[in-house]
Amino acid sequence: MSKQGLLIVVSGPSGAGKGTLCQELLKRNENLCLSVSCTTRAPRPGEQHKVNYFFVDKEAFRQMIEDDQLLEYAQVYDHFYGTPRNYVMDKLEQGQDVILEIDIQGAMQIKQKHPRGILIFVVPPCLSVLKDRLFKRGTDSAETIEKRLRCVCDELSKTGNYDYLVVNDTVEHVVEQVDAIIKAEKCRPLCF
Ligand code: 5GP
Repeated sequence: MSKQGLLIVVSGPSGAGKGTLCQELLKRNENLCLSVSCTTRAPRPGEQHKVNYFFVDKEAFRQMIEDDQLLEYAQVYDHFYGTPRNYVMDKLEQGQDVILEIDIQGAMQIKQKHPRGILIFVVPPCLSVLKDRLFKRGTDSAETIEKRLRCVCDELSKTGNYDYLVVNDTVEHVVEQVDAIIKAEKCRPLCF
């Protein structure tokens, strides 16, 4: 009997380092792939359609919801984001592990629909580090950054719904921790 892949959800505040973490995990794990989400937000400089996101308009997004093409979706800040269902389900069926980099609302939907999904929340060592990273990244306006920072406390209060909480103090350390979580989860016996 072939084993289904693991569905791994990574969430955390903007600037917590989720993107770098996921890219490093992909380099280390051949069997891991990253789901590319759909979004109604505009691409940032350097972002590519189908690579970073499927950039779609609101009407196309609404149609995807109506056609039940999204595994989960949510409004985050002022935009809609969603996970394409078929890509994820096909990979899992093929025994590949799939990582979703999504927000808390989406993570809760995944937990309901896929109780065996593994929910990991990434936090920065402290708020000032987060603020620093967001300004250095230079992809958002000061107003957007302030808006995102105001949401952090609310996000942190919901981390109890996650299976794991990891601190991104250094990239090496956080990658090691999540790698260990994935390896341990792979040792769980199958339920019949
Ligand atoms: P950003 O606009 O900075 O790329 O992403 C904003 C937030 O949306 C991040 O917390 C990110 O994890 C979340 N996000 C990205 N894709 C999805 C998705 O498909 N579903 C949900 N629920 N959240 C997403």
